[in-house]
Amino acid sequence: MMNGKQYLESLRKMRTEAYVFGERIDSVADHPFTWEHANAVAMTYELAHDPQYSDLMIATSHLTGRKINRFTHIHQSADDLVKKIKMLRMIGRKTASCFQRCVGFDAMNAVYTTTFEMDQKLGTGYFERAKDFVKSVQENDLMIGGAMTDVKGDRSLKPSQQSDPDMFLHIVEKRDDGIVVRGAKAHQTGSANSHMMLVMPTLNMSADDANYSVSFAVPSDEKGVIHILGRQTNDSRKYEGGIDRGNLGYGIVGGEALVVFDDVFVPNERVFMAGEFEFSGMLVERFASYHRQNYGGCKAGVSDVIIGATYGLAQAHGVQDASHVKDKLTEMIHLAETLYCGSVACSSEGKATKSGAFLVDPLLANVTKHNVTRFIYEIGRLSQDISGGIVATLPSQKDFQDEKIGKYVEKYCKGKEGVSAEERARLVRLVENITGGTALIESMHGAGSPQAQRVMIFRQGNLPAKAEFAKVLAGIKEDEMLKRIRG
Ligand code: SF4
Ligand code: FE
Repeated sequence: MMNGKQYLESLRKMRTEAYVFGERIDSVADHPFTWEHANAVAMTYELAHDPQYSDLMIATSHLTGRKINRFTHIHQSADDLVKKIKMLRMIGRKTASCFQRCVGFDAMNAVYTTTFEMDQKLGTGYFERAKDFVKSVQENDLMIGGAMTDVKGDRSLKPSQQSDPDMFLHIVEKRDDGIVVRGAKAHQTGSANSHMMLVMPTLNMSADDANYSVSFAVPSDEKGVIHILGRQTNDSRKYEGGIDRGNLGYGIVGGEALVVFDDVFVPNERVFMAGEFEFSGMLVERFASYHRQNYGGCKAGVSDVIIGATYGLAQAHGVQDASHVKDKLTEMIHLAETLYCGSVACSSEGKATKSGAFLVDPLLANVTKHNVTRFIYEIGRLSQDISGGIVATLPSQKDFQDEKIGKYVEKYCKGKEGVSAEERARLVRLVENITGGTALIESMHGAGSPQAQRVMIFRQGNLPAKAEFAKVLAGIKEDEMLKRIRG
């Protein structure tokens, strides 16, 4: 297993073609725009070497029997699923950011379980390839970027109906030794600092869209793979250094990029779906369920940091004992723990798939993520309420350091006796960083937008069974149990 330093070193050896502000990034491990995202992933490596976290961070491979980083594991039990959530919450507390490695972790489990059932039904031979891929990810301790979301063009049209056929990633050529793909994946968390990308279709496809039903793995620095990083709230501060960046080591969410696949060749051994449209829906739903499972883990961890920073500011302002402040902090804790409850519940309700690997309860996973699209906003709102208007008006670090005006900023920005202006400023900037923009939008749309969860919730909600319960109690159908008791 690699440690954090070794992971960063492995990135420096790659030739990844990544851009930000129109300029090529020479080293994603060191560039001011990307180094903090790389740090967040490095934590997923480093923590595996800390004995106090080994139960969460380390698993045993069912393929090799060897100890592996949990982020490369195929879940073998409901307990594995619960440990994943505990691990995510723990890392969320240490980074208050997105540590990105879960996407590939989830993609791998989705591909593993789906290819097994695809082979059973269609007689294809993808599962052995998927197994070999997983083995090499485990043995080399790779960071996999999971790639699902296509750019989608006209959302009312199917992939094959788009005026530009590249609005969904597709196969442009099938060769004896592999396939050539073209298109782009949007909002790709951690892609620029991953070793490989595991690509999946974004929709349940029909026969017309067979060429869009494609799943494969490709090195992130493969020829033709181009990562274009998106802007984030206050991102020019990344170039300033210092406390105005808020989260000093790990940044805001996961350095999401638009990833272009400009006629990229993929050898057969790394192709896991190439036209089997009937299984695109299963792959999408499984990935979505695994990824929606996570959000009450990582976001509860991030919420713990928001709550901690808010409490710190309440103390700095001398209002920590005011009843309305205590009540708001209570509400924040309640919301964070509610998110966590959802993630633990969908995990402990997980069941074995036909491949033997475990899958979360999809209904509960979707409910969990749906709560995140609301509760993080409310936690952020309450934090801003308690923290005060200073979150929007604090002078910059340069003003603190200025020879002439620094003394005024220092004097008039301090908190109660004993709390320096700098200590208060650091907490204010952290609250601003986490609650002030990009991170909230990530909670809304990451792992799928709210409507995607509502579709799944409606589908999984089993209304006919609920109608049966009502009919029995309303006397429309006989109550067998009551009859047994009362005769
Ligand atoms: Fe992992 Fe959370 Fe980031 Fe998704 S948002 S990759 S679950 S840390
Ligand atoms: Fe995310």
